[in-house]
Amino acid sequence: MELATNLAYIAAAIFFILGIKMLGSAATAVRGNRVSSFGMLIAVVATLARSGLDYTWIAAGLLAGAAAGAVAAKRVQMTGMPELVALFNGFGGLASLLVGWAEFEKIRSVTWAIYLEGLGEGTPGAWFSAVVMVLAVLIGGVTFTGSVIAWLKLSGKMGGTAVVFGGQKALNALAMLGLLGTGAAFVAGATGDSAATLFYVVIGLALLIGVLGVIPIGGGDMPVVIALLNSCSGLAAAAAGFVINNTVLVVAGCLVGASGLILTVIMCKAMNRTLANVLFGGFGAAGGGGGQKVEGEMKAISVEDAYYVLEAAGSVVFVPGYGMAVAQAQHAVKELAEILERNGAEVRHAIHPVAGRMPGHMNVLLAEADVPYEQLCEMDEVNAIMPTVDVAIVIGANDVVNPSAAEDESSPIYGMPIINVFEAKTVFALKRGQGAGFSGLVNTLFFRDNTRMIYGDAKATVSGLVSQFDD
Ligand code: NDP
Repeated sequence: MELATNLAYIAAAIFFILGIKMLGSAATAVRGNRVSSFGMLIAVVATLARSGLDYTWIAAGLLAGAAAGAVAAKRVQMTGMPELVALFNGFGGLASLLVGWAEFEKIRSVTWAIYLEGLGEGTPGAWFSAVVMVLAVLIGGVTFTGSVIAWLKLSGKMGGTAVVFGGQKALNALAMLGLLGTGAAFVAGATGDSAATLFYVVIGLALLIGVLGVIPIGGGDMPVVIALLNSCSGLAAAAAGFVINNTVLVVAGCLVGASGLILTVIMCKAMNRTLANVLFGGFGAAGGGGGQKVEGEMKAISVEDAYYVLEAAGSVVFVPGYGMAVAQAQHAVKELAEILERNGAEVRHAIHPVAGRMPGHMNVLLAEADVPYEQLCEMDEVNAIMPTVDVAIVIGANDVVNPSAAEDESSPIYGMPIINVFEAKTVFALKRGQGAGFSGLVNTLFFRDNTRMIYGDAKATVSGLVSQFDD
């Protein structure tokens, strides 16, 4: 039986890895998702088939969890997806915390000293077991409360600005030292009640550090934080896997841990920031503004006049942003792109890595509208040809096209790579009004001589342009 379970776990791990590899390309992503899910099914069935399980509790947990997950996933709007991911990461962390805690209570009922003795106190086995138990509750606890704060900030239930106060870094460092010290004291072989006290202090401090660690991070940096917390939830699961001696949980946890970390690094690079700067820089704190004084005015253009410019354009680049997701304008964009192509224009869709509200947000929307994959361009690729582009159509994007990031050293987003639409011959910026982007900064692009604003809901505006061509 043991052999069959382990073989099933190895098969599951292979399906996970194949699935992740397939997720790397839009053409195979859907199949990759199914392959990974199949791997998970194998893992679940193999785990449930093990003897000695109490199926009543498992069935109750499965039903409650599946019902909550299905309702949440069904009801969530595409724009609310990052919050949901943040919350799900948090529950992953909480689950690992509970696994570590439950294991400790189980052992404690035998008494911790006997347990250590049974393992051979001071032997690598005893040490390892105590270490993974602490790691499961420590990483799980930080991930849980950190994710809840990220969820509150992203869903607007809590202000998105960075909360900073005097002595904050010292307080955080102190809490961190306390956590590591308590964890080390526990691992060093505390017995009886003192082991329990130390263990509970580890849980309390981990929960506190999750809150303290995320409140000083501004809303604009939340995507990076979510990717990092996702990685942490994987590490916590891997630690929980060691606690309950479950190989597939260790493998799946490590895969999530590694992929979350890779995504974190990619996103930091996309914003030209170090991870330390994101976590400890207090970016987005109230009053921490800066930024150029804007000269000029925003000049509007009607859909009818914009049509004449587009009609004559030889090359057009669409730059979608969060506003396209809000307006659900992707199908209209695809239609306009097809018309422009038939009209002889070369059409591209330029995607910024942090456009929208979750990694790959724009790719998902454009794929949903069946925009050809060959028309999607990455930032560097499109920036190289931007000065030759006749019209750049910015659809509800703001921060990712803000020239201050390239030109204004006093701007908080200085150094963040952007899509250089300001270099195009003409820019049409589609937005509803004077609303700021996620960072709350003024966008100097909208005041440039080569920029024209087309006000209104992005879907209505793009559909309006389509009708102009149809007429
Ligand atoms: P922004 O948030 O900078 O700007 C979106 C713009 O869309 C707003 O200025 C708004 O202006 C406009 N808008 C909103 N609704 C509509 C509508 N119905 N029709 C037309 N326009 C609309 O978006 P970007 O994509 O440029 O930048 C993403 C930002 O979000 C970055 O700062 C990034 O760091 C952050 N972020 C990214 C995440 C990710 O993983 N991708 C996750 C979380 C945050 P108006 O109100 O005037 O219409």
